[in-house]
Amino acid sequence: MTIPFAVGSRLTQAFGANPQNYAQFGLAGHEGLDLAPQGADKKVYAVESGIVREDVDDPVQGKAYGINVVIYAPTNRRLWTYAHLAENYVKKGDKILRGQALGLMGDTGNTTGPHLHLGLQSTDANGNPINTGNGFKGFINPAPIVTLLTGLEQAALDRANAAKPWMPVNNTAALWRFARQRGLQDQQTDEIPFTYGGEQYIAQVFNKGIVYVKAGDWENIKFIPK
Ligand SMILES: [Zn+2]
Repeated sequence: MTIPFAVGSRLTQAFGANPQNYAQFGLAGHEGLDLAPQGADKKVYAVESGIVREDVDDPVQGKAYGINVVIYAPTNRRLWTYAHLAENYVKKGDKILRGQALGLMGDTGNTTGPHLHLGLQSTDANGNPINTGNGFKGFINPAPIVTLLTGLEQAALDRANAAKPWMPVNNTAALWRFARQRGLQDQQTDEIPFTYGGEQYIAQVFNKGIVYVKAGDWENIKFIPK
């Protein structure tokens, strides 16, 4: 499948386009990508795995974005906004996998017709948007990341991960990077989530040690030598 539409997307408005329409919102131009499906399937599929940060089911409460969903991808510190939906299928706190259906494209909020508005912000270690003074309230052009996440490299990673490999294939994973930097050699397990003192942690076993971290606190990875 392709993302965010199963049948492929058509770009209807690029990032930064039409500054004359966006000055009234304090923006230097369009703060995302407007996309429409190439065929009849209007379901919107997650472009990256993450956790639902916001789900707005009331188009009035959602203001310009109407019915919308915001998903945080902690590993890459990215916040994705899916706006103008007709309906959303998810709830705040849900864990979402890349390619999972989030809702239906619609025209709620401030639109001139049905489309998906896809927004992307980078965040700090706490998940707060950075560079909010960039003229786009911290939004950046999602196009290069979407291309990466829909490309051949990602397809190969997805297939390799589905085979439950012994060796790591996700070279962006924080624990794996940490283990590599410290010479802990090969990965022996997938990432293992656990809870301690009411907090979420993730552990992973390598040849020379067990690496662990509080979820989201990626700067503070620790390890226990074996
Ligand atoms: Zn838009």
